[in-house]
Amino acid sequence: MQQKKLSERYNRFRFDAGCLALNFVATVRHRGSHLRDLLISPEALNKWFLQSGLSSAQVQIFPKDLKNAVKLREAIHDTVYALIASIKPEESDISLINRFAKYTIPVPQLSTDRCNIELDTPFTPMSLLALIARDAIEHIGNPDRQRMKKCENDTCRMLFIDISPANRRRWCAMSICGNRAKVALHRKKLSAGQTELF
Ligand SMILES: [Zn+2]
Repeated sequence: MQQKKLSERYNRFRFDAGCLALNFVATVRHRGSHLRDLLISPEALNKWFLQSGLSSAQVQIFPKDLKNAVKLREAIHDTVYALIASIKPEESDISLINRFAKYTIPVPQLSTDRCNIELDTPFTPMSLLALIARDAIEHIGNPDRQRMKKCENDTCRMLFIDISPANRRRWCAMSICGNRAKVALHRKKLSAGQTELF
């Protein structure tokens, strides 16, 4: 039962990375240990588009779109990861993000009858990926990228933006990896205390 609950939790998308692009990167859970890719099918990608709020209706996704999505996700991950580690990112990754960002996105238009917002064309998987690429560019190219961090839990390694005023956040979420670290520290202290007793 406990195992089932745990597996359900790890199969859930996370939307707490601080921006659209890093939420997309977080569709791979536990990059530091038992890596789990949640974008395993076109249906899963559609679900992510819907849950992230990027699209309000299903879009038709072909296997090649899924391949493109994974390519973009990994290029964003590797670029941010390199910057956090103070390593020069791969030019091929940067070019790929730039290429995706250039893809045309639907233009909002006012309807002539009621002045409602209507899109000139419907969203396609590529235009949704373009929005993710543009978000990545906005955050990576901003001086605030100093706030991009990697969860200090080495089995997790989720990338996130630290929006705390003190900029001292160490874990992807206090309720997940922060608590785990606290419990581990407590156990270590306990066992050290016990060793001293004998
Ligand atoms: Zn974490």
